[in-house]
Amino acid sequence: LIVSVGSSAELEENYIGRCTIDATGKLISPGLVDPHTHLIHGGTRESEWGALAAGRPIPGGIPHGIVATQMATQATSTKELSAGVTKRLNVMLAHGTTTVEAKSGYGVAPADEIRLLRVLANVEHDVEVIRTYLGAHVSPGPSGHMQFVDDVIKQLEAAREFAEYCDVCCDPSGFTVQECERIAAKARTLGFDIRVHADQTGSFAGAELAIRIGAASADHLEYISDEAIELFAESNTVAILLPTVSYHSFSLVRQPTNANWLPAPHPWLGQRFRELLDRGALAAIATDYNPGSSPALSMQTAMETAARMYRLSYAEIWHMSTINGAYSLGRADRIGSLEVGKQADIVVWDVPNHELVINQFGTNLVETVFKKGKIVHPGANL
Ligand SMILES: [Zn+2]
Repeated sequence: LIVSVGSSAELEENYIGRCTIDATGKLISPGLVDPHTHLIHGGTRESEWGALAAGRPIPGGIPHGIVATQMATQATSTKELSAGVTKRLNVMLAHGTTTVEAKSGYGVAPADEIRLLRVLANVEHDVEVIRTYLGAHVSPGPSGHMQFVDDVIKQLEAAREFAEYCDVCCDPSGFTVQECERIAAKARTLGFDIRVHADQTGSFAGAELAIRIGAASADHLEYISDEAIELFAESNTVAILLPTVSYHSFSLVRQPTNANWLPAPHPWLGQRFRELLDRGALAAIATDYNPGSSPALSMQTAMETAARMYRLSYAEIWHMSTINGAYSLGRADRIGSLEVGKQADIVVWDVPNHELVINQFGTNLVETVFKKGKIVHPGANL
């Protein structure tokens, strides 16, 4: 735990360190918090993205989109899934992330999500992983919704053993407000807190739903409505922005083939999110790591991208990548800032100030990472 915070002179007057780490000229920050990831999956989707980015249609017969990941995940052994999670957590940690939210969500059927949650629960790693059951992720097609939502609800009890949160996708690509509300209401009775994928591919009143039911977060918000911008100001629901999704899909904008894949980011997205923050929303940033729309594991990349695509300030981005993410995960009393009594999740950066972490981009600026006071990622100079 953090015992004291102050200048070196003050600390040295009152304490004798068992071990001293010389961070002269370096930035010290809280460990980064990534509150939205799809950490567990099989397969990758680079061919599909390559075709779309180059303006070529996806070759016929090749499964693409989330369905491709669902099929690949089903075909991947538990051991391989677990190894994949560990490998990704290693990269995240090396880039300064010390706490991460991880969703299931690539089961072919809701019952398959339990295997994914169990694998996540069994992974031992220095990065703290907070688990979310995402049964209602992808629409099963217009005729299958009623049965599918029933099946999602049926798995809630089994999922509760492994997951703290239940996520619902309230979006044209997912489920309606009524369907999401049914799932969330039942999840609440079992003690889940709620997260919502909201309004990614079209205005669907997903953010309004999240705020109305007091969800911990409403994530994505590419097509946030004017009403929701107003509602966030009075709400404790955290607006989680996913800048690397905008970045990764930017090259697909206005290409005729993109209708099958990602939506064009709102042309005024930067302006919309500026408005959202100026009105007083509590907001955070996440990587939304997944093999399709955001194959990015580094919160540094998300921070750098947020500055460039969403026109946010250095200070806003740091809050959004640490304490606000921690708040959205119900852990703001324990992590997310360097305060006395909090867990010593600390990053030493090889730059002298917090602005340079965002201003310089494309390389890893982390030197050393501490989790609960223990060095878990050694720097070159230590
Ligand atoms: Zn997501």
